[in-house]
Amino acid sequence: MHPRRRVAGAQLLVALVACVGALGCSRKLWSKLRRVDAGAVAVVPADGAAVPDGGDYAVARVVGEGGAAGEAGAAAASASPSHAVLPAGPPPNLNVILVTVDSLRWDMPWAGYPRPIAPALTALEAKSVDYTHSYAISSYTSMSLGGLLAGKLPGELPRDGFFFGTYHKKNLFFPELLQKAGVHTIGAHAHAYFKDAGFQQGFDKWELVPNLQFDNTTDKNITAPQHEALAEKLLGDPALEADDARFFAWFHFLDPHDQYMSHEPEIASWGRLRRDQYDGEITFTDKYLAKLFAFIASRPYAERTAILVSADHGEGLGEHNHYAHGFELWEMLVRVPLLVYIPGVVPRHVDTPRSALDLAPTICELLGVAPDPGFEGVSLVPEIYGKPAEPRDVLLDLPTTSDSERRRAILHENLKLIAFGNDKYFHLYDLGKDPDELEKIVKGAEYDEMKARYLAFEKTLKDVDPYACLPNVCLNGAYKKALDAGKK
Ligand SMILES: [Zn+2]
Repeated sequence: MHPRRRVAGAQLLVALVACVGALGCSRKLWSKLRRVDAGAVAVVPADGAAVPDGGDYAVARVVGEGGAAGEAGAAAASASPSHAVLPAGPPPNLNVILVTVDSLRWDMPWAGYPRPIAPALTALEAKSVDYTHSYAISSYTSMSLGGLLAGKLPGELPRDGFFFGTYHKKNLFFPELLQKAGVHTIGAHAHAYFKDAGFQQGFDKWELVPNLQFDNTTDKNITAPQHEALAEKLLGDPALEADDARFFAWFHFLDPHDQYMSHEPEIASWGRLRRDQYDGEITFTDKYLAKLFAFIASRPYAERTAILVSADHGEGLGEHNHYAHGFELWEMLVRVPLLVYIPGVVPRHVDTPRSALDLAPTICELLGVAPDPGFEGVSLVPEIYGKPAEPRDVLLDLPTTSDSERRRAILHENLKLIAFGNDKYFHLYDLGKDPDELEKIVKGAEYDEMKARYLAFEKTLKDVDPYACLPNVCLNGAYKKALDAGKK
């Protein structure tokens, strides 16, 4: 058993001392720590120090374990006559910057992790709507981000079927809608895979950090400094400063991706264990995000620019004997941060689970562009602006590729059902009691109900076969063979 799983409820205080002492805390402990705060509502006066930059609105920090409690708290706080009123919706000239950080786990300092590994992101969280139970669509870059751009599950998207596959041009990616509506669309990334992924559809500008080396098994590039400079160059375009200009920019930072590189002496080492090395990558990336956020704050458009931060997937650090990411849908692989900072919006926690499927319609609405009817997610804008966050099921999809077997999952309330292979077998987990997914349930009323729920969802799927695969060819490791043969 992994030592981090030994923390028991009765040992909470001892464990807290131990984990603050740099051993690392289990997610069970995070849950317990968060429950200590459950229901607490702190309202900062309108003249308080925590008002968002330049904002006129009161700040309500609502911390609650249950979505309903958190939402009720937020409603109560914003309804208070002694506090300013939340704006009804996004301003008509809002810009959106989406920052995705590869392999960024959900258990960051603002979620209870005791090391201050991400001060810039932690400061951003304090002024954001923080989705505490946000899920990537899948567990590795290609599938997660194809789904994010299309607003659909990746198994429904025309794609070649290789592990690091290419998406077909006939996919509709949401930046295409923005581009057609006259929004400037900018992408700059640090992942060499983005060169051939097909993700650039709808972008006026699409740039990669120079001199990236592609390795299909790992990533040894160090990119945050050059990437930040590239982002500044693009965001410094005077065309973006016109009063009637609107833009969407997306930056995918890659350094936390394994292999974890040392950044000494620029960043002090957290230690030699795997988590230590991972933490060093987060700290390094955060340093350059701080620079990027400062640059954005210096621009004339800062007060009408939203910053969204999330990840394409999490990262395994030994849970389920799983390292890095992909191949499975365990919580540490799919649960990710989602911070939505919009100047003037009341920061709070939303604990209702949400999916990155919701980002395509959300970003479209923030930019005043009608979403495609085919988007499968739901815009988060109403709840960002104070409406209750109603529960919805969350769907996870890892289609079969040249190098991986299919996995799908459905989350409903506290329950998560994972379907292995082509529905060969199913495991149910009660995340409320078992957040580390250690005790699979394979029978009983809840299992039957969740399996029926999953099968009903599956009937609504419009799966498409990978187009570059003959039967039993590319889906049996042809990508590896092509690599071995030097063809790719
Ligand atoms: Zn990734």
